[in-house]
Amino acid sequence: MPTHLQIIALDRIAYEDDVDIVVLPGEEGQLGVLPRHARIVTLLEPGEVLTRKAGEETALVISGGFAQIGPDHVTILSDAAEYAEDIDIERAEEARRRAQERIADTRTTTEMDMARAESALLRSMARIRVAERVAARRRRQPPGPTQPRGDG
Ligand code: ATP
Repeated sequence: MPTHLQIIALDRIAYEDDVDIVVLPGEEGQLGVLPRHARIVTLLEPGEVLTRKAGEETALVISGGFAQIGPDHVTILSDAAEYAEDIDIERAEEARRRAQERIADTRTTTEMDMARAESALLRSMARIRVAERVAARRRRQPPGPTQPRGDG
């Protein structure tokens, strides 16, 4: 019995599939969810959602939110979610720089502005971390040929 995983972002369903296992960025670290998991609702941090289906791994980044987990499903609600491969690392680095500047800026005085800057920083760092990890993984094991190779 697979787990039906849905990742719902602000404006779209970012991911939907039946998977064998899903690892979530929980508040207390990585949370692996196998079928027949107890029903819970839990908070998620900005970070990686890793799925495995028939030996194939897929990595996404979420900006944080909630997961509703049940015996046959995981539903994630997160403002933003993107495939690791779709992350624009330069954009994330720009966002990280801007957030760091806002945090250091003495004019950022309200708690609201500081909280916004801190969550932008965490989102950008999660994007950079996951995109780099996936790129490194890919360099170690390049995807196999999709066509049988000829002799020359
Ligand atoms: P930025 O300041 O660069 O927009 P942000 O953290 O404010 O970053 P979000 O509000 O989390 O961005 O996301 C807005 C939309 O842009 C979402 O659809 C998200 O998936 C996408 N997105 C944000 N940053 C990136 C990125 N570095 N690469 C690809 N997509 C991104």
